[in-house]
Amino acid sequence: MTGTVWFVGAGPGDPELITVKGRALVERAGAILFAGSLVNEAATRWAPPGCAIADSKDMTLDQMAAWLLAQAQRHETVVRLQTGDPALYGTLIEMVQPLDAAGVPVRVVPGVSSAMASAAAGVESFTLPEVTQSVIFTRVEGRTPMPPGEDLAALASHHCTLCIFLSITLLHKVEAGLRAAGWAEDAPMLVVHKASWPGEELIVRGTLADIRQRCREAKVVSQSMVIASPTLGARHWPTLAKSRLYDPSFTHRFRRASAPATPTAPEFP
Ligand code: SAH
Repeated sequence: MTGTVWFVGAGPGDPELITVKGRALVERAGAILFAGSLVNEAATRWAPPGCAIADSKDMTLDQMAAWLLAQAQRHETVVRLQTGDPALYGTLIEMVQPLDAAGVPVRVVPGVSSAMASAAAGVESFTLPEVTQSVIFTRVEGRTPMPPGEDLAALASHHCTLCIFLSITLLHKVEAGLRAAGWAEDAPMLVVHKASWPGEELIVRGTLADIRQRCREAKVVSQSMVIASPTLGARHWPTLAKSRLYDPSFTHRFRRASAPATPTAPEFP
């Protein structure tokens, strides 16, 4: 028998932020491998009795692949729980390749990324009409080198929303990149530590000029999302360009315009 190995996004930390599908897989899993350092252990709270549960924090990639392979010979459903969404800064491909080579079927269930949980924590929108319509997920260079053209100064030159992963200990590099791209010293920034973790989430707001100092004061040194965006704080803006989708002059598939179109009304966004 060969079971299927499911790579399941466990979400950002709150055990309730796993998807319904992910939870159902955990509930019928014969074996679960989870990432000890970040996935809240509570994500395994729905595991059935007798389920083989292992923490991958002390394993090498080869050992993880070997463990998953061995479990797939014994169980129909094997789950690898990844933090947030498996497509972002995980080891999905490295683990899928040996399973492919061994002929073990693989499926992926998406998860709520910590980027989205951080926006939720701060009641922020990454996109706003006429402010920015683009989001970049990136990091600054640590031990993993950045490919050519992807240094923060280049990406930040778009002045769109930047969700910067894996970089809380490298805030000086984040600042340098934003400055090189011409971001103002009073540009708002948001750092969310342990977004969605019950009782542990911490929100630090500041500007390009003072965010590092504020993080230092709040003792935020790990597991944090760094966000720079021209949309930050929009909740308190007195004026806002409203989304045209809800403009009375805007006709779309589900609603007819109740007012004459304004010359600026764009096509269906
Ligand atoms: N696949 C994950 C990212 C894994 S990389 C996802 O989609 O979220 C690990 C980095 O993600 C951390 O360095 C941090 O920048 C971010 N991160 C993970 N969980 C977080 C959380 N609960 N709050 C804030 N940042 C988090």
